[in-house]
Amino acid sequence: MTSLMPTLRHQAAAKVFSGFQPSAENHLAYPMEAHQQTLRQAVHCQGVGLHSGKAVRLTIKPAPANSGIRFIRTDLGGQSVVAHMDKVVDTTLATTLGDGACTVSTTEHLLAALRGCGIDNADIELDSPEVPIMDGSAAPFCALIKEAGLRRQNDLRLALRVIKPIRYEDGEKRIAVLPFAGFTVFEEIIFDDDIIQRQLRSTVLRGDNFLTDVAPARTFGRAEDVEYLWARGLALGGTLDNVVTIHWDRKSVLNEGGLRFDDEFVRHKMLDLIGDLSLLGCQLLGRVQAFKSGHSQHLGLMKQIAACPDSWELVRLLPGGSFHRVGDGAM
Ligand SMILES: [Zn+2]
Repeated sequence: MTSLMPTLRHQAAAKVFSGFQPSAENHLAYPMEAHQQTLRQAVHCQGVGLHSGKAVRLTIKPAPANSGIRFIRTDLGGQSVVAHMDKVVDTTLATTLGDGACTVSTTEHLLAALRGCGIDNADIELDSPEVPIMDGSAAPFCALIKEAGLRRQNDLRLALRVIKPIRYEDGEKRIAVLPFAGFTVFEEIIFDDDIIQRQLRSTVLRGDNFLTDVAPARTFGRAEDVEYLWARGLALGGTLDNVVTIHWDRKSVLNEGGLRFDDEFVRHKMLDLIGDLSLLGCQLLGRVQAFKSGHSQHLGLMKQIAACPDSWELVRLLPGGSFHRVGDGAM
C-alpha cells in the first residue's frame, strides 16, 4: 500500500514546483486551535475488549509534536503501530491496525475521543490486542483526557484541505468529502429495525460539541445476532453495559435506561467515522457526507483521497483563524 503522509508531502512539494495556485480563500469558517496538542500527563483505565473479551489495561501518555498517535503493545515487548490508514489490516466490525506481529483492534472510539478532544500526539500503551470497550462510547476516554488536561505544543497543525469533491461508492453505501473550511460530518443510516429506521444528523465539529453530541453515543447490535457473533469468536466481551442491544422485536432496546439520545444509532456511526478518518494523520478541512457507510467505506474514502492529490492541498493552520498552503513560506 502507498503511504499517504509521504505522498502528502511529496504532492505539496510537487504543487509548489509546478506553480500550482491555491484558492485566494485562506480563512477558516470558524476559529480552530492552530497548535498541536498533547496530554498534560499520563492517564490510565482498564476494561475488556468487546470482541476478544480479554482484560486490558490502557495508558494514554503525552508525546512530542509531529509524532501523531501510536499504539504500543507492552505485552509484546513494546512493539508499536502508528494510527495511520496504511496500517489498517481489518475493517470487519471494527478498525484493526497492524504492523508485523503488533495488532490493535477496535481503535475507532479511542481515536474519535482523541480527535474530538483535540489531541494530535499521544502514545497509547495497552497489554492486550484490543482497546477496552468501556461503556461502548467515546465518553469515558474523553473524561480521561479531560482529567489529564491538554498541553499546547509549539508546532502548528497540518490539515488536509479538500478543494474538489472526492467520492467513494461501494454498492449502495456512499461517502464523499466536499470543500469546506472547517470540519462537518453529515451521516445518514437506514435500517429495517423499527427502533432505527432512517436517521440523519449533521454536526459541525467545533468547540466542545463532540463531547456533548457525539461522544456519549454507544455502539449497538441486535440480540438475535449475538449467538452468531459468539460462534465466530466475536463480541465475547459484549454486555448490556457496553452495547446498545436491540430487542428481538426490533422495536426497543434491552438496556435498562434505554437510549441516551433518540437518534443514538446515527450519532454512534458519526463517532466511528470521526475516529476512522483521524487515520489520515492530520486534521481534515472538508464536509463529509456518509450514507449507510461503515469502517470499510471510511477506509475506501481515505484511499480515494490518497489517489486524488489534485483534489486537496496540505495546509498549515495559523493562529487567528487562517491557514497557509504548505510550501508558501509559512512553515
Ligand atoms: Zn463504533
